[in-house]
Amino acid sequence: MSRYAEVLLPLALHGTLTYRVPEALAESVCLGGRVTVQVGKKKLYAGIVTGLSDTSPSAVGDTLKDILDAEPSGPIVTQAQLDFWHWMAGYYMCTPGEVMKAALPAALKHTTEATPKRRTARDPLTFTSKSAPTPRRPLSEAQQQAADGIKKAWAEKDVCLLHGVTSSGKTEIYISLISDVLAQGGQVLYLLPEIALTTQITDRLGSVFGQQMGVYHSRFTDTRRAALYRKQISDTPYTLVLGVRSALFLPFHNLRLVIVDEEHETSYKQQDPAPRYHARDAAIMLARSSGAKVLLGTATPCLETYQHALSGKYGLVELKERFGGVSLPEIVVEDVKELRRKKLMKTPLSPRLIDEVREALARSEQVILFQNRRGYSPVLSCRSCGWTPQCTACDVSLTYHRQADRLVCHYCGASHPVPKQCPQCGDTELRDIGYGTERIEETVHTLFPTARIARMDLDTTRAASAYTDILNAFGRGDTDILIGTQMVTKGLDFDRVSVVGILNADQSLSVPDFRAAERTFHMLSQVAGRAGRRGRRGLVVLQTMSPTLPLIAQVVKGDYAAFFGTQMAERRRFAYPPEVRIINIHIKHRDDRLAEEAARTLAAMLRPHFADGLLGPYKPAVGRVQRLFIRRLTLKVSAALSVNGVRRTLHAAHDRLVGQPAFRSVQIYFDADPL
Ligand SMILES: [Zn+2]
Ligand SMILES: [Zn+2]
Repeated sequence: MSRYAEVLLPLALHGTLTYRVPEALAESVCLGGRVTVQVGKKKLYAGIVTGLSDTSPSAVGDTLKDILDAEPSGPIVTQAQLDFWHWMAGYYMCTPGEVMKAALPAALKHTTEATPKRRTARDPLTFTSKSAPTPRRPLSEAQQQAADGIKKAWAEKDVCLLHGVTSSGKTEIYISLISDVLAQGGQVLYLLPEIALTTQITDRLGSVFGQQMGVYHSRFTDTRRAALYRKQISDTPYTLVLGVRSALFLPFHNLRLVIVDEEHETSYKQQDPAPRYHARDAAIMLARSSGAKVLLGTATPCLETYQHALSGKYGLVELKERFGGVSLPEIVVEDVKELRRKKLMKTPLSPRLIDEVREALARSEQVILFQNRRGYSPVLSCRSCGWTPQCTACDVSLTYHRQADRLVCHYCGASHPVPKQCPQCGDTELRDIGYGTERIEETVHTLFPTARIARMDLDTTRAASAYTDILNAFGRGDTDILIGTQMVTKGLDFDRVSVVGILNADQSLSVPDFRAAERTFHMLSQVAGRAGRRGRRGLVVLQTMSPTLPLIAQVVKGDYAAFFGTQMAERRRFAYPPEVRIINIHIKHRDDRLAEEAARTLAAMLRPHFADGLLGPYKPAVGRVQRLFIRRLTLKVSAALSVNGVRRTLHAAHDRLVGQPAFRSVQIYFDADPL
């Protein structure tokens, strides 16, 4: 009698494909096991067996292909993982195959897995502590109270929010809670946003947990990630995994605690490709199915999280003082409009900021300057006719990068030479307007010629170790002034930073997005929190064109509650999350007219079901990226409503649309809870 296997493939297929299990492989083929199969005429794929049966699923049983090979060492994916993949595919409206593609290290998706090379000391799998497994630091009274509060909250609730001001020592609280779980034989997953996973946190946790801790990072080689994956499925897995969002997909035997550090970070959301998941929300789901507890930690909770905490859905523990009696920084606001009117803004740094930097340098203290735009100047413009260079593939203007002397598109990465003259009117004088980090660096060099200056942005951190190198140099005191984009806001702890300059606090407010104010609040509060670490109260100079905005006052006072109140009132008024759920529908095509027509047709199909809840079609702020024209529909669904029915309606409309020959080549995808 033949056996049949359902095989999940890393492809955007709706379901699984059925294969026959040949007699020779009967022993090796198992649920969750890895098999090699042929798809179509030629292509070989590695797939995962998700079902086995003795009966052929259809009358065509005899014409089914055989499984070609099977890994004999047992399952590489657990049933719990498969359940998680299916949940994710359902919630985020993609296929389980697309989730599988994101979940497994590339080596495990290949039909032949490269044998791991012998690991060298430079590529260790385990963190090896320099000063072997270091004692935990005793918690302060406030920290101990917070830890006790969290445990108390967990007695009744699965999720607890730790809302602690910057530098309150949240890491030490995590360490204490992790130790408890490990002592009871449980496993812990500690999630960090990609960029924050630096040596700083790895060193601290590694010094306590040493050999028990594995690190999972997308900058690691695939071989290394595959090796860690295999260790986690073995009988001797790491009990603590420190990782970025994709660490959610690792196998766990006895997951007891998931920590989501810096839970407000937008990089927890995967934008592209599918699955477009939010790691925090997915972590809560994963923990629930494993019976594990969740701790969300941040100084600036996202509105959704804080609302759940206030409503009692999550526990809430607040930590309002910094560790070691350090005070929160003083924030002074500089009115750039007024300074410009008085002709006092001779550089992007206000006179007050220049003075403060000079004094800090004289005291041998460090300075961070924050400008959330990379490149030299955001816009190059013709003096005579105002022409500005645009990307040929995207609907955005190009940014001038002086060092490379190129015009770069920040959406698709394409770079172009700088034109010698204006193609519109022939004028040879093209001016640069505004400033990015590269131009700030140049200015700061001129202002402080003897200072040691470093710049941290996407352009200076492309090499694998560059990010860490810049931070380590700053940490050692080899750099006096660090200039950077939002990379410098990511929970870094430095002892000698006494002055932080925010050069343009308003920039991120002008983005046409209902979350713009929330993002700005997070970013400004986080960057301000880098000032004044141990021993000395820090100073933040916040330069803004709109000093009277309530948001600026809320940042200055560190008044999260007031900020939350204002924002929630707006979200309610205009029906935005957390008041409603949003699902965005993206429609893309190389032909603008066809994209528009497809979007209109889809909207017409959906409107009878959702009436006023459906917005669009509209062109997003950037209407063309990488040669594809974009249209969008936005669906707002009451947060109280089950979204299962909604999803079914959307999938059905999608299938009907792409079933029409005219729209076959149109790309359509959904983004649930977009950021
Ligand atoms: Zn011109
Ligand atoms: Zn582009």
